Amino acid sequence: MGIKVGIDLGTTFCAVAMIGADGKAAVIQNEMGERLTPSVIQFFDDGSYIVGAEAKEALDYGEEGCAAVFKRSMGESGAYCSFYGNDYTAQQLSSIMLRELKRQAEKVTGQRIDEAVVTVPAYFGELQREPTLRAAKDAGLTVRQLVSEPTAAAMNYAADHFRENAKILVYDLGGGTFDLTLVQMKKNARVDVIRTTGNSMLGGKNWDDELAKLLEQKILEDVEYTDTDIHTLCTREAEKVKIALSSAMKAKAHFTLEDHGSCTVEVTREEFDDATAHLREKTRGLCRNLLDGLRLSWRDINAVVLVGGSTRMPQIKRFIKEISGREPLSRVNPDEAVAIGAAIMANVKAQPYAVQKMTDDASVIRALRKGSVPAKEMPVESLQKLTVSDVVAHTLGKVTVNKDGTGYKNQVIIRENSVIPVKVAVAEQFYTKGGEDNESEIIMLQGDSENVAECTAVCRYVVSGIKHDPSRNPTLLKVQYSYDANGIVHVQARQEDQTTDLPARKLPAPPDMSRYCEGISAPPAKAKAEPLRIMMAIDVSGSMTGEPMEEAKNAMCRFIDEFSSYPGDFKIGAMVVSDRTQVVCELTNDLAQCKEAVNDIKVCMTGLCNEADPFDEILNRLAVARGKKVGVVLADGVWAHRDKAVTRARRCAAMGINIIGMGFGEADEEFLKAISSGEIGAMKVELSELTVSFGKIAQELGGGRGGKKLFGGSKTAQTECETWPAPGETL
Ligand code: AMP
Repeated sequence: MGIKVGIDLGTTFCAVAMIGADGKAAVIQNEMGERLTPSVIQFFDDGSYIVGAEAKEALDYGEEGCAAVFKRSMGESGAYCSFYGNDYTAQQLSSIMLRELKRQAEKVTGQRIDEAVVTVPAYFGELQREPTLRAAKDAGLTVRQLVSEPTAAAMNYAADHFRENAKILVYDLGGGTFDLTLVQMKKNARVDVIRTTGNSMLGGKNWDDELAKLLEQKILEDVEYTDTDIHTLCTREAEKVKIALSSAMKAKAHFTLEDHGSCTVEVTREEFDDATAHLREKTRGLCRNLLDGLRLSWRDINAVVLVGGSTRMPQIKRFIKEISGREPLSRVNPDEAVAIGAAIMANVKAQPYAVQKMTDDASVIRALRKGSVPAKEMPVESLQKLTVSDVVAHTLGKVTVNKDGTGYKNQVIIRENSVIPVKVAVAEQFYTKGGEDNESEIIMLQGDSENVAECTAVCRYVVSGIKHDPSRNPTLLKVQYSYDANGIVHVQARQEDQTTDLPARKLPAPPDMSRYCEGISAPPAKAKAEPLRIMMAIDVSGSMTGEPMEEAKNAMCRFIDEFSSYPGDFKIGAMVVSDRTQVVCELTNDLAQCKEAVNDIKVCMTGLCNEADPFDEILNRLAVARGKKVGVVLADGVWAHRDKAVTRARRCAAMGINIIGMGFGEADEEFLKAISSGEIGAMKVELSELTVSFGKIAQELGGGRGGKKLFGGSKTAQTECETWPAPGETL
């Protein structure tokens, strides 16, 4: 049997750890006896390469073929670098790195690696996590899970210093990213990540850049002009000077300038700290947001754990003391904590991740308050006993048509900081076409904003094989959106009443999202649509009892939906008629409200028989309305006072109101014709055709949703669900 390892795939350094025979987790040294391996690769013209310290040295000497800091570009399209005619993406470079780490760890331990937990910055989204997972698989690793770096660091801390109820803030400043994570330790050796936030473009590299600028300024104080590319020289020297300033108050950098010979500049720690104050401030802002969001203060935090190589800078320790009022913990080795925590997570026994649902802020805050009892020491006898629940850093949503049909928006499905794995099922209407392979395209977004332009399009799912059934158009698609334990997005879909999932292909997001960031331009004919007012009247006499009433309500609701993107001023209302009339919904543009009123309609609510007719009420509501005016009257039997009804219906016609008489069952076709006016006229249909007939009327009146069908209608019902049904079951 092989070993299970944790791998910290750092921006500047990598580390591999495992649990040893003594039950303790520790870093595995590399072939050169080093605990950390620089994340640098040097390629040669014969296609070979070297990885680690030697490559880093070559990089420092400015040799050709060196690739570094590629983790920052994970997920970016196109090549990260190109050497000797070969292009390399960040994913390929990471894969080379991981393959080499695996090879060396297996050689040093003499054991095969069976499984690995690979760490990623908490703030890595779908676009970075997917390629990281692929890189690890391409490197020949069996990945048990991708884990957020601060979560792994918290596990490492918890293994040694478990204190029930303690709230720990992990401040993780690496080479390229900053992650901030609040963790709470709970009963039964459980570690819950409560919140995570960060900045994927803030890390040691930014401190290097500021130092490079400082060095450049200092050179230019002495040398007015030089042909030498001092920017590149200073950038190359900056990291060394920065690291030197972590242990000394001053550091020197030596340069050779083509036209001036050698030159030495000195930087003090104070100058460096001043030049980078704005970077520290960025992290202060994120700390404040995280604590404020949970209504916590620094007093509620039991310890701040520093992780990541950049927290070795004395300015960070001082800064944490200044903002939190306490010394950060120095018991954790910031370079090794992540790999060790990952190794612990690779070894926890089956079912390591307790899924705990905290659906809203209020419940998170309540749970935190409940935990506000003094923390108590509680040794964990075995690392395998620890369990952890993690959260996702990015809100997941999808592109959808906005309520008034004038543009697109981000429909939020899973909120950031939801405990992963998490699944949410959404019921969506989808309009099918006959004789075609009906496909639904779903574009997934990460980001909080309703504005698509402010979100990141992360992938696209194409759901195919949707069956067309004219009696159920739109059909209902049940779509399950999920983040798995790796924080990776998945979509599954099933058509109503089906027992197997529809085929769903995951594809890259469209390269050009601009059309989803602008308004939808309505088709020319619709663009000029005149205002439209519709009053629906339904017969609720005793003969409608049972299926007729249910079918009629269903058809009316779908009819209302057809106008969700009517390209003009639109209002609809509903009334019932039997022995009396009653308006159940006055004319409104709130379609949901109208549908609610229709759904509340009951048989005989205005009496058992057909003594009344709806036309006076229709006239009252529509006579003075602007634009096109329509009364849709649905009946299933014979009306007691036919002649009076016909006279009143004609009065409506005289006032410019088109009456559409629809009937089924016992309805008299002649009577329907007599009350109807306008182009559409009367309709006598079977009960089973009611929905389709209503749909046709809607189309005639300018309803329907044309090109916006792809994203489902405005009607989506969101339900949290624990499990997606197995084949053979419906949701
Ligand atoms: P990590 O991504 O956690 O490997 O952190 C790497 C970052 O830590 C790089 O930007 C390094 O320059 C920085 N770093 C490592 N050691 C030190 C040190 N002693 N002082 C300042 N920065 C350091």
